[in-house]
Parts: sequence; structure tokens; C-alpha cells
Amino acid sequence: MSERRFAAIAESQKRNRLELKEKGRRSELFAMNVFNTKRMLQYLTKDALQSVESAIFSGSKIDTKIADQVAEAMKAWAITMGATHYTHWFQPLTGSTAEKHDAFFDLLPDGRALEKFGGRQLVQQEPDASSFPSGGIRNTFEARGYTAWDPTSPAFIYGTTLCIPTIFVSYTGEALDNKAPLLRALHAVDEAATAVAKYFDKNVSKVNATLGWEQEYFLIDKALAESRPDILLTGRTLVGHSAAKGQQLDDHYFGVIPTRVLGFMSDLEQECTKLGIPVKTRHNEVAPNQFELAPVFEEANLAVDHNLLLMDVMDKIADKHGFKVLFHEKPFAGINGSGKHNNWSLATDTGINLLSPGSTPMKNLQFLTFFVNTIKAVDTYEELLRSSIASAGNDYRLGANEAPPAILSIFIGAQLSRVLDELEGVSMGKLSPEEKTELKLNVVGKIPEILLDNTDRNRTSPFAFTGNKFEMRGVGSQTNCAKPMTILNTIVAKQLQEFKKEVDALIDTKNLKKDEAVFNVLREYIKTSKRIRFDGDGYSLEWEKEAKKRKLSNNRTTPEALQVLTEAKSLALFKSMHVMSEVEVKARQEIELDAYIMHLQIEGRVLNELVYNFVIPAVINYQNKIIQNVMGHKELYGAGHIKMTGGQLDIIQKISEHMKTLKEKTDTMIDARKSANKLDDSLKKATVYSERVKSHFDEIRYHCDKLEQLIDDKDWPLIKYRELLFIK
Ligand code: ADP
Ligand code: MG
Repeated sequence: MSERRFAAIAESQKRNRLELKEKGRRSELFAMNVFNTKRMLQYLTKDALQSVESAIFSGSKIDTKIADQVAEAMKAWAITMGATHYTHWFQPLTGSTAEKHDAFFDLLPDGRALEKFGGRQLVQQEPDASSFPSGGIRNTFEARGYTAWDPTSPAFIYGTTLCIPTIFVSYTGEALDNKAPLLRALHAVDEAATAVAKYFDKNVSKVNATLGWEQEYFLIDKALAESRPDILLTGRTLVGHSAAKGQQLDDHYFGVIPTRVLGFMSDLEQECTKLGIPVKTRHNEVAPNQFELAPVFEEANLAVDHNLLLMDVMDKIADKHGFKVLFHEKPFAGINGSGKHNNWSLATDTGINLLSPGSTPMKNLQFLTFFVNTIKAVDTYEELLRSSIASAGNDYRLGANEAPPAILSIFIGAQLSRVLDELEGVSMGKLSPEEKTELKLNVVGKIPEILLDNTDRNRTSPFAFTGNKFEMRGVGSQTNCAKPMTILNTIVAKQLQEFKKEVDALIDTKNLKKDEAVFNVLREYIKTSKRIRFDGDGYSLEWEKEAKKRKLSNNRTTPEALQVLTEAKSLALFKSMHVMSEVEVKARQEIELDAYIMHLQIEGRVLNELVYNFVIPAVINYQNKIIQNVMGHKELYGAGHIKMTGGQLDIIQKISEHMKTLKEKTDTMIDARKSANKLDDSLKKATVYSERVKSHFDEIRYHCDKLEQLIDDKDWPLIKYRELLFIK
């Protein structure tokens, strides 16, 4: 039984670091596989380029003739780069990305071969979509779905395929993917933020949401990872006693990166660079064999695509280097899990970061406007924002005394809290000249210098202001950033719209000056959004109690968290911001619940297999050896053996006790799973999975892990934690 384990260890120890074959400077390699503006300049006429650029800027349509030109240009470039196929690259609702490759090659009726790829193929495709989840949309409306070109994210060559980023929608226009709603949300926030930014600078004509993600992951030797059924099928370990050494020494964090890992990272970074993903930092994380990679931030839609592409590239390069990447939020018990911080801000086309304090009081009033509106938006829709990061995997982190808690709150630091406190005291209506001067000089005017030394960062906060951006920390490492980004940008857009209405009303009806009106509205927002601000320890029990008093949601599980999606307030929000229709939201909720059920179902099945086919047989084997040993003693010494075999008998007994409970618990879990499967309603089923199936996982694991500690290392069939985490 344990042969497999030792064979895997032997294989893992044979590996060497792979060196980069291709050399080249980063700046020269950057985006060489991307059909970006630089390439378009080479291959397109001025008109065509302008048309694409205005599509990117304002979302205008590209006409068929231009599309033909762009397609022709893309094809010409792609073929010189060695591409043979093209694909519409999209983000179905579960899983990360999908693609269907078509050759550029086509045959004419007379048998002549040609390379075919025109505007029609570029703009729209009809993938065989029947196997992608639609949450019932396709059944109700229309059988087919199609993918449509997203010109705001440039096409790229990956391997020998030209990949064209696309949205995926049903024939009646409902989004079947994560990108379409994201683009709508980004459009909404652009409109709303531009209108507000114009209060401060008339020249602003576009606002982009920016996203800088930080991807955490574990890197495990491939042979070791694949020898374990749980890692292979669920991406995480379902059993396994913690190693004698864990992360308590903190010696991995920012330590020296192991050489084999460094080989992988260099290769990965080179590939990313060619694909135009601006990767910048890499370092060890807290847990052994855990690492992080972060790029320079980008426009949010592009950043989302780049994160999805990165995850795919990582899988492939890891394989080449004999590793398996674990993107799961909680691959190992007892040590840190993985997240994907989403750093978010808003940037104008005039080059201003709207969440960056400026050098003048007016710029700071602009900063405060966007800062306070974001806080207000998160306060109003905290539960919705929480729902955007709910998943089976992330449940093992959020609300499990790790990473940020399931309660959403905002950390802004002591200095900014003081600024907001002062603004709360601003007079109602018109401000006296003295008050205005005081505000300019001593409140708004003082922001930049105080922020510089605002270094106290609260690591337990799920939504923290970090100087010139907000950082959403609860996002799971496997999550498609499109989900939280869609919600965050939608709620901020909605809030900015409301803000504009209120400020305009004060200017029009109360005759206030613009800055007076802004101060007046901000004052009210600061007052009414106080409950969301929390600077203390997010893990503490006191906070949980306090949050309850403040009526903040605390949804620990995915089925609980997802319910808010279809509440009237959420549906109205999505509808008014043109982000999702009721049908689309309901479909999404259904798909998320189903995904949750499937994940737990698979985990339950694998656990069942591990217990019955791995642990119990190994344990019986070992127990038999001790029983034989005791019988041998008895043969030799008769009744006197009792004095000598106390230890053995004790172990036999302990094994039996654990094995008995283990089997009982496993059977209970199996029964619970079977009865859950009979339920039709997704929410009920997901809830039962959470409350009656998953609830047994820990106990089952406990007894497995005890047995692992009791039996001979040589007989244990599963790669152990110390081997997974400490073999380099
Ligand atoms: P850390 O959070 O690890 O201390 P930093 O504060 O340096 O690291 O930045 C983390 C991430 O924030 C980086 O990935 C960076 O790209 C991103 N970031 C910085 N500025 C912005 C911004 N204006 N908008 C979005 N992301 C940003
Ligand atoms: Mg961070």
C-alpha cells in the first residue's frame, strides 16, 4: 500500500532545477505575444486603429469593414509569430477559462487551401455551449449562446494559438459568463465617477477602475501531489496530521526562495512578460511551500483577464518543472491558506488616481469624495460584497479564524478616522468663510503629510485603505476576480450616482456652492456609514459580538452568503445600473449553489475513499502485525506475556477505538450525503451539505490523523504533511 508513497518520494528527489533556455531583457520581451497598439500601428490603417481605440475608450461599435481589417491584420501578425489556430477565449460561469480552437486553415471547394480568418470569425463565434452552466437561462430562452469580441482586452498568442478575449452571452443577450457583467459594471462606474470627477476637473472624460491582484499559491512536487487522491481530485488535503514543524518559526516568509522554485518562477515570469502580464514581485509566503506573485496594477478588465491567463500559464509551467500548483484556498489544515488580495482604485484619463490624496485642498476634497463614497457604498451593500467572494473553498478561510473574517468592515487607519471625525462636525448648509479656511488649512489640507506616516496596517481587515487604494483581502485564491470586481464597481457606481444627485440638489435648491454642497453630503455619509468602519482585531470574539450589534452580516457559509443576491435591494441595484437582469442574477445564484454542492459532494466521496480504501486497510495491516507479535509472546511465555505486552495491547486498543469511531462517522457522513442528494432545491441541498455533510469532515479527519500518528511510518499509504511541505 505504501509503495506508492515511497515511489513518489523517490521520484521527487530525482528532480533538478530547470534553467531558462531563452535569454532576453524583460523590456524587450514585454508583450511580444500581444496584439497591442504598437502591433496595430504596424498592421492597421489609421482609420481602423482609431476605430478600435474609440471602441476601447467609449465602447463604440466597430463596423464590419473595420472588423475585417482588424481580423486580417491579426491573422497576418499571428501567422508570422507561428500561430496556426485561433480561439475565442472566454470565462464561463464555473471553471476559469474556456476555448475552442479553430485552424486558420480552410479548404476551398476546388481543393485549394487558404488561411481563413475574417471579421466575422473575429467578432462572433458560436461555441458548442451546451455543456457550460447557464443556470437554466438557455432552457428558458434560447438554446444557443455565442461569444463576442472584447476589443478592450488585446488578443494574444499562447503556444500556437491566437486567443481573442470574448464575452459569452445567450442569443437573447443574457450573460453566460463573468466578463459581460464585469464590463457592464466597469461602464457604470466610468459614467458615474466621470460625472463626479467633473466637479473637480472639467477635463476628465473617462474613469477606469484599476485592479492589482496578489496571487497566493502553494507549489508541491508533482509526484507527491498526484500520489494523493484528495489533492488530485479536490485540490486540497482532506486528511493528514500536521508536521512536527509548521509555520511557527516564520522562517519561510521572505526567506530564500528554493532553487528549483526559482527555476519555475523565472520561467513563469518570462512567459508572463511575453504575454504582457506585468508581473513584478515574487516572494515566499507565510506557510512552507507557499508563494505569492503580484503584477503592476492595470485597468480592471485587463487585470482580470491577466489573472486568469496567469493561473493557466502557471499550471503548465509548473508541470514542466515537476510541480503542481495548488490554487485552493485551504490546501492544508493548520497552516495558512491562500487568498488573492484585490487592490482597487479609480483612475481618470487625465492621469489622476482618485483615491490618492493630492497636494492641494481641492484635490483632497476630490480624494475625500471618492474615499467616503466608497465607504458608504460598502456600508450599504456589505452583504452583497461578501457574497461575491463566497465559494466552497473560501469557506475554509473566511469565518474560520483565518484571513479576514466573514464580516465585512473597513479599515482606514487612525489619521483618516480623525479627518472623518472632523468632517462630521461641518456645519449644516452654508459654511462661514472662517470655517472654510479652517477646513482647507487644517482638515482637508493636512491629508497628504499625515498619510505618509500612516503605516499601521491592519492585516485582519477584509477591506483596508492602504494609502492610495482599497485592498479587498477576503478574495479566495481560486476566485475569478471578475466576481468581486463586478460587485464592487457596481455598488460604487450606484453610490456615486446618488451622491451626484444629492450634491446637485443642494446646489440647485439650497443655493450652496459646490464645495459646500460636497461637504454637506459627505458629512451625512460619514455619519450614516460609521458602523462599517472598524480598526481593531477582526478575528476577535468581541468584534463578532460588536458587529452583530451593528447589524453587519456574518455569513460564514456559501449557501448563507449567496442568498442576498436575489433580495429585492440587490435585484434593483443590478437592474438600475444595467449590470444584470433578474434572470441573470438568479441563474448566477443557482450556478454558484450547484458548484458549492458539487465541491462538497466530491470532497465527501474522496474522504469516503480515503477512509475505506487507504486508511482502514493500512491500519488493519499494522494492527495485525502487533497482534501477531502479542500472540508470539503468548506462545513463548503463556499467561506471563501480559506483563510484557502492555504497550502492544494498548496500541491495538487505541487503533481499534479510533477505527471504530472513524468508520461510524464516515458512514454517517455517507448517509447524510445520500439523503442530501435526494433534494431538488439547490439552496436546501447546499444548506444540508453545509450543515450535515461537511460538518462531519473534521471529525473524520481527526481520527484519521490520530491513526496516522499511531502506525508505523513505513505502512502509511499517503504522502505525509512533512513530505508535501518540506521536500524541496
Ligand atoms: P502589499 O499589499 O503587499 O504591501 P503594495 O502596497 O506594494 O503591496 O501593493 C500591492 C498591490 O497593489 C500591487 O499588486 C499593486 O499593483 C497594487 N496597486 C498599487 N496601486 C494601485 C492602484 N492605484 N490601483 C490598483 N492597484 C494598485
Ligand atoms: Mg496585499
